Order: sequence, then structure tokens, then C-alpha cells
Amino acid sequence: MPQASTEIPLPLPAGLLARLAAGHKLILFLDYDGTISEITPDIRNAQPVAGVRDLIGKLAVCAERFRVVVISGRQLKELMRMLGVRGGVTFVGNHGLELMEPGGGIRPAVDPALFTPALDAIRRWLCANVPEAAGFVVEDKGFSVALHYRLADPGPALSIRMRLAEFVREHLPTLKVTEGKMVIEALPHQANKGQAVRALMRDEGRERLAVYFGDDATDEDAFFVLRDAGVTVKVSAQPRPSWARYRVASPHDVVAALSEMASTPRNAAL
Ligand SMILES: [Mg+2]
Repeated sequence: MPQASTEIPLPLPAGLLARLAAGHKLILFLDYDGTISEITPDIRNAQPVAGVRDLIGKLAVCAERFRVVVISGRQLKELMRMLGVRGGVTFVGNHGLELMEPGGGIRPAVDPALFTPALDAIRRWLCANVPEAAGFVVEDKGFSVALHYRLADPGPALSIRMRLAEFVREHLPTLKVTEGKMVIEALPHQANKGQAVRALMRDEGRERLAVYFGDDATDEDAFFVLRDAGVTVKVSAQPRPSWARYRVASPHDVVAALSEMASTPRNAAL
């Protein structure tokens, strides 16, 4: 994780993405939760916002102009199930540990067997330390394990987060802990959206300009990687420091931006 930015993103200028879509081939990165779906108390209910499935489908069909990458901390299979759109879309799950290109199979970025003993230790720790029926939800994503505490009392949640982070730090050197919106996760050090973005951009050569929408702490790694090489947009109701250059307030604004791109004809001169 880079040092935290102190810069406040600017409002996304009207028409900027339409101009880019007219004049460039784009690689469009979309985080899922809080970016193209609303954050919900129960993560299993986080459906895509109205209109986004159709727009992603429409953009992905124009593969020559738009490469669409949906990139999330969710397990890849779960991400695909939630989105419900497959054709032409590249999926990146588990913060970059799993990748699936259109028409291909799931490719892990690391050998999951290397992390099985450490992740099993996390599973046992959570079984022993997380109280039943107290609002905590464990999400086992194979490559990583997340503890959601959106519905838990703040006091016990803080205590468990601190103890889990300490357990990982002291006993599980192959893992790290990351914190997001009401979630703490234990996962391999290699899990990093910024590294995943860098690898995909390397595959593209200099062919495409990157556009990245994301809302959470783990997206900051990607914003940092793309800070001089693309258009980065933080989804946040409040102006807060970020490595993203621009900001929109909500997933509905992301839909509006995608719509702007999808309805822009390519500049005939290109
Ligand atoms: Mg998110």
C-alpha cells in the first residue's frame, strides 16, 4: 500500500469520459461493491444498480474500443454470479489473486496450496473468537477470509479486529490484513489491485488508456499505479483524500458515466 494521499479528488468534469471514448481505445476497470452496486448491510444482497448490467454488456460487446475489467475483493465465482454478465468481460477476484478473461478459465495469480495452512489457522481463529449471532459475517473466499462487522456492535468489533491483526502479524508471515468498509480481511501479501492493474496494463502495451472507478481503501493501490497513466475516479459521497484524480458521489453517477461512454460514437477520423 502506498502512503496515503493528501489530495482531494476534483469533481469528474462533464463530458470528459465521452471525449476520451471518442478518441481512444479504453480499458475500463470497475470495482463492484460501492461502485456499481450500493453497499448493503448484508453483502449477499448487494445487487448491481439499475442499468449497469445492460451498460457493461453494451460496452463489452465493442471489444475493439472498450476492454471491460470488473475487479473486486470478492471471490471470482461470486463476483460473476452477482454481476450476471459474462460475455466479453474480464473478471479479477480476491483483490487480484484470481483472473478470468473472456472465454478462458480461472487463472490464480499464486498457488493457493501455499497459503492453505495459514488460512486454515485464520478459519480456526475466527471459529474460536467470533461470537455467534452478534452481527459478524465470515466470508470464506478460498484465497482469503473476510470478517464483516457492519451489523455488529462497535466495541466488540474493534476488539476482534485488533486481535485478528495481531494474530496475523505475530504468527502468519505469509498473510497480511487489510481493512475496508466495515470489513477486515486476512489474505496473501500478493493480493493487490494495483499489481493486478499493472499486469493487465502491461498486457495491453500502450494500446489503451485506463479508466478506473472504485470506492474503497483497496482501490487506492490501483489509483496510485494509474496516477500518471489514466483517469481515476473515486466513488464517495464526501470529498476525502485519495490517489484518484476525480470523484463522483454514488454508483448512480458511475452508471451515468458509463452511459456517456456507451452512447459516444467513435471519432470517425480515428
Ligand atoms: Mg468497493
